[in-house]
Amino acid sequence: MSVSAFVFSSSLALKLLSAAAPAPAKAAPAAKAAAVPLSVSEKLVGPALTEGHAYARLAELTDGIGPRLSGSEGAAAAVQWALRSFQADGVKAWTEPVKVPHWVRGEERGEVLASDKTRGHPLFLMALGGSPPTAPEGLTAEVVEVTSLEALAALGDSVKGKVVFFNHAMAVAADYGRFAGLRGRGPAQAAKQGAAGALVRSLATASLRTPHTGSTRFEDGAPSIPAASVTTEDAELLHRLLAAGGPVRVKMVLGCSVLPDADSHNVVAEIRGREKPDEVVLIGAHLDSWDVGTGAHDDGAGVVMVMEAARLLKKLPQAPRRTVRVVLYMNEENGLAGGRAYAQAHAAELSKHVAAMEMDSGGGRPVGVSVRAGEGAQDLLRPWMSPLVALGAANFSSREAGGADISPLLPARVPFFGVEVDASRYFDVHHTHADTLDKVDPQDLARGTAAVAWVTYALAEMPRTLERPAAPANPFPVAPPAPTPPKSASGH
Ligand SMILES: [Zn+2]
Repeated sequence: MSVSAFVFSSSLALKLLSAAAPAPAKAAPAAKAAAVPLSVSEKLVGPALTEGHAYARLAELTDGIGPRLSGSEGAAAAVQWALRSFQADGVKAWTEPVKVPHWVRGEERGEVLASDKTRGHPLFLMALGGSPPTAPEGLTAEVVEVTSLEALAALGDSVKGKVVFFNHAMAVAADYGRFAGLRGRGPAQAAKQGAAGALVRSLATASLRTPHTGSTRFEDGAPSIPAASVTTEDAELLHRLLAAGGPVRVKMVLGCSVLPDADSHNVVAEIRGREKPDEVVLIGAHLDSWDVGTGAHDDGAGVVMVMEAARLLKKLPQAPRRTVRVVLYMNEENGLAGGRAYAQAHAAELSKHVAAMEMDSGGGRPVGVSVRAGEGAQDLLRPWMSPLVALGAANFSSREAGGADISPLLPARVPFFGVEVDASRYFDVHHTHADTLDKVDPQDLARGTAAVAWVTYALAEMPRTLERPAAPANPFPVAPPAPTPPKSASGH
């Protein structure tokens, strides 16, 4: 679809705006109503809805640059593209160094070998990021199915020499957090128990025999084994063959390689606050993607939303009270090095980070605002919600705001906020060859962008800042860094 085909007509946008931003009622509590500069909402929400700028940028990033896994040429090109784009917008930007894992996919194929139950089948699989290769001739072994890490542990060393097949029942987006641990930690545990390989059912809400990749983690010095995802269809096939009784044998060939860590960068940009420049409202997304597809939803959509918010904020007649800082993180998908590097490099100013958000649940339509802060956050934000009414995002989510790349800010008790988007179809294409621009609805992206721009402005302009939350008991969960549990309908 062309960009011009989707943008709202200006008259529709004006109607939306007038519905969204009525003149303050005369009888309204004067202090609160007057404090919210609704004229600014027209300057942010209007262009976000009508100009199609975020979508055009997403086309540059996805069609122009393509996949951008950490350490790849695509990732380096994306860093330069982001710098150029901020420069074109008149927004000051720079890079900050990040050392990233460098994993490269190679040849990959698999098959179910013939037996008395089957004449054999191809297996549609993709190596998991971080997997070592198989021997060049491949790995051939019997399959053993488990549906939980506990069930695997109970099998002890009986899995020795076998391919452990992690099956599960993911059906809706909310299931992602329940089962992501099978992919992130399952292969490492299987390796410790002597398994020869691992196959993980794709974490997916739809499939046309499309494998979904993702990261898996092996501890330094601990055993590692070749690990791949298989499509949900192939998972069902393996399950049926195993249920029919008798051994099921597979062959898998993975040619991936783990290279030395590479030099890369976060891209940081900011609009300096007019009154309190030392107070920072951070808006983030991750610039890296998987090496398959073009990372349109994950996380190109988040990248262009926060970049567009900065471009529109920069065009306001006066800057917001506080500094708005955009951070485009590197290496969310397979290491979180960018998130850690930012928290480390800026440790001295984290006490002045008054709010942070990460957009990383795709480009679906906005459905609400989430917060993770101390007492009274919703009361402070409520007077600022009216421009979100027409966007369908004026309610508070019952779920906490968060994000993998901003999770290293938790110990500094930085308040989190977020624009929650509809992620019900996000896991149809997540981490697949099919995560491409055509899957992103331009109007949904425009609405999300408008909501991000406005909520960011609100946090940077409101008279008071959010109370800081309590320090978390366990700020760095052992779970794989890439997938933040997606709450009911979001995730990476
Ligand atoms: Zn993501």
